[in-house]
Amino acid sequence: MDGRITVDLKRVIVDLMPGPLVRTFAAPYIAGKGIASGVAKADELHARQGLSSTVDLLAEEVFSREDVEATVQVYLRMIEALKDRPYASISLKPTSLGINESEAYCQDNLRRIVAAAAPHRLHITLDMEDRHFTDVTLRMFKAIRNEFDNFGIVLQSRLFRTPDDIKALHAKPCKVRICIGIYREPAEVALQEKPDMKDRLFEQVQQLLDHGHYPEIATHDEPLIRRCIEYLDNREVPKDAYEFQMLLGVPRTELQQEIVKRGQTIRLYVPFAEDWKYAVHYLKRRLAASPSMALMVMKNMFGS
Ligand SMILES: Cc1cc2nc3c(=O)[nH]c(=O)nc-3n(C[C@H](O)[C@H](O)[C@H](O)COP(=O)(O)OP(=O)(O)OC[C@H]3O[C@@H](n4cnc5c(N)ncnc54)[C@H](O)[C@@H]3O)c2cc1C
Repeated sequence: MDGRITVDLKRVIVDLMPGPLVRTFAAPYIAGKGIASGVAKADELHARQGLSSTVDLLAEEVFSREDVEATVQVYLRMIEALKDRPYASISLKPTSLGINESEAYCQDNLRRIVAAAAPHRLHITLDMEDRHFTDVTLRMFKAIRNEFDNFGIVLQSRLFRTPDDIKALHAKPCKVRICIGIYREPAEVALQEKPDMKDRLFEQVQQLLDHGHYPEIATHDEPLIRRCIEYLDNREVPKDAYEFQMLLGVPRTELQQEIVKRGQTIRLYVPFAEDWKYAVHYLKRRLAASPSMALMVMKNMFGS
């Protein structure tokens, strides 16, 4: 109960924070403004630390056709900017690309982007949003995966349905980001405790490998990462058959360098903003998800 109150208090405080303050405190989480900032961050991470990147435009919940088309155009320009960088991929969200209008419209926009990236073997990952979008996101993924190899998906270990979704994923091998899932979901459809979500994530890495897929293990939990490394080593899984992923800004430099030295791939999620209002929304979510950051913000705000 106490923990719940703390979580809710944190959310309220973060929600009330003015945009400029959020930007100041949470700046490490985003590359900056404009495509060039995402490209520069991907280059820097690769040159200095041997890290790969998946670059993402912060543009959640786009509603008008004009805004959706503007988002598609940004992704097409991103492809041009990133096409010669084998250490970069791109991530995108259905709610940025027209799912609020219709499945057919969104699928068409996704297809345009995946098709433009395909000749460059530039990988595109379709992020997973809350449970209301799971079915439609999987349907669009499967339809486009039939045509293109450079397209991957995300599954969330907290959802009870995920083992069935893995079984039904695709006959062709897929790159699948497996994460606990950032959205709070009700007890009828999802686990409620993080340790359980992490145990399931570990099992689902195995299940993905069993089905011939390429797991992208997205977590910052060090014991879970070590558990996965031990399992992958024991099973003698080739190092090009999986990767680890983390968010830009979460302080895990030592662990990341250890993974790089082992010859395993680690990729950071590198968001950039075209419009700061979307960036502030994303940063507030990150702040609310991270006790250490939220505590730091509270201390700075209230001097306690
Ligand atoms: C590359 C990537 C892509 C993702 N894509 C999706 C997606 O498409 N859909 C989706 O629902 N979710 C996505 N997520 C989010 C994911 O589902 C989790 O919510 C998030 O990774 C936190 O879970 P965790 O496994 O790291 O465990 P946690 O227990 O939440 O975190 C472990 C520790 O890591 C640190 N930490 C974690 N997050 C942060 C943070 N934001 N700031 C500072 N420290 C932090 C804290 O020290 C924490 O104690 C993605 C995550 C990553 C890394």
